[in-house]
Amino acid sequence: MTQNPPDLRPDLARPRLDDTRRSDQPTIGMVSLGCPKALVDSERILTRLRAEGYGISADYSGADAVIVNTCGFLDSAKAESLEAIGEALAENGRVIVTGCLGAEPAYITGTHPRVLAVTGPHQYEQVLDAVHAAVPPAPDPFVDLLPASGVKLTPRHYSYLKISEGCNHKCKFCIIPDMRGRLQSRPAHAVLREAEKLVEGGVRELLVISQDTSAYGLDRRHDSLPWKDGEVRSHILDLSRELGRLGAWVRLHYVYPYPHVRELIPLMADPENGLLPYLDIPFQHAHPDTLKRMARPAAAARTLDEIAAWRAACPDLALRSTFIVGYPGETEAEFQTLLDWLDEAQLDRVGCFTYENVAGARSNDLPGQVPEEVKQERWQRFMEKAQAISAEKLAAKVGTFQDVIVDDIDGEGIATCRTRADAPEIDGCLFIDADTADLSVGDIVTVEVDEAGDYDLWGRRRAGL
Ligand code: SF4
Repeated sequence: MTQNPPDLRPDLARPRLDDTRRSDQPTIGMVSLGCPKALVDSERILTRLRAEGYGISADYSGADAVIVNTCGFLDSAKAESLEAIGEALAENGRVIVTGCLGAEPAYITGTHPRVLAVTGPHQYEQVLDAVHAAVPPAPDPFVDLLPASGVKLTPRHYSYLKISEGCNHKCKFCIIPDMRGRLQSRPAHAVLREAEKLVEGGVRELLVISQDTSAYGLDRRHDSLPWKDGEVRSHILDLSRELGRLGAWVRLHYVYPYPHVRELIPLMADPENGLLPYLDIPFQHAHPDTLKRMARPAAAARTLDEIAAWRAACPDLALRSTFIVGYPGETEAEFQTLLDWLDEAQLDRVGCFTYENVAGARSNDLPGQVPEEVKQERWQRFMEKAQAISAEKLAAKVGTFQDVIVDDIDGEGIATCRTRADAPEIDGCLFIDADTADLSVGDIVTVEVDEAGDYDLWGRRRAGL
């Protein structure tokens, strides 16, 4: 199983950083590995460093030291993190390690004793202390201004918004609660202030992330805090409503199908609210016995009935999910239940991973480990079904009008866009290949869909749209 598709590697976005700096300015490089949540951590660290007067280098040679933000979710991610640290040491020599793998300092220093410091996940202050020790700050009050929206590694028209850290669940295949701790929600007004600043800074789409978005505020007992002329409760319903009023698209990731998710659906159906009719729900499996062995939250929920109710209230709702095949003990019958469930659920987007043992996960000790070739064969069958469903759903969109956000325009004038049903990096695209001269990245325009593939759409602009 892998959680981090290669195109989510945020260090690939480094060239977008502002690289103008004065000659005596202390300068830091950043290699950021892992999931979108780690990317937000990297952005926060860089924002603080920029505010303190540090320059940010897009290459090893221009940096006085390099921070490597690691991922430790899977053994393969750990190996990748160690490799990235080794590369930074070879290329630059002064390396500070942070992130999930930083929770195991001996594992890092055992391989790379030359690293300057190792700090764990979300230890922003410790990372900054390590940077200060390695490369003392030299602020210039006349030039070092904090950019209005902080430093972002994601393109400027969309931004991830982290609302909480950690998780109270104990899914057997997952070591995130051990690495990141129990649920810790940010105060609602702090999240909203950050979101408001991002929108003021030009962000057109906010991607709400956490480990368990529907549990937001539980640890704070859903406290109310002052916001605008009234108060806002630290509850996903209230937070979504207020975020949807900021004038940007708002997309929810990592939502579990708890009963109160039903209350979000009318907001998604409301054209006045920016909350997109999009739910990213990591179902992971459909067979109750497999889910039980996984110890998944909300495993007992009647998800098909729930999905039908959501769609009745919001017909445009797009559902994305991820699944694991080949989990220990998964029988052919259990897998077939998953395929049948997919047929009924008709999800719009799915990702699928073959199960992989992760050091420290409780699922490693479960009996009935599935042979690798069986996992691969099931993955293949799963993806074939998912592809057929996706192709059929996209074909039904031909002839419809869709609002799309422009992500990129290439040298030949082809605009790569996304519909409201597509999250960046993980879902499909809609391409416009004519009449794009007046378009800019971040624009939201309406197009008529005129062609569909298995995962992507093509569309054309109509006069006046
Ligand atoms: S809900 Fe499960 S899979 Fe998700 S972070 Fe928590 S323990 Fe891990």
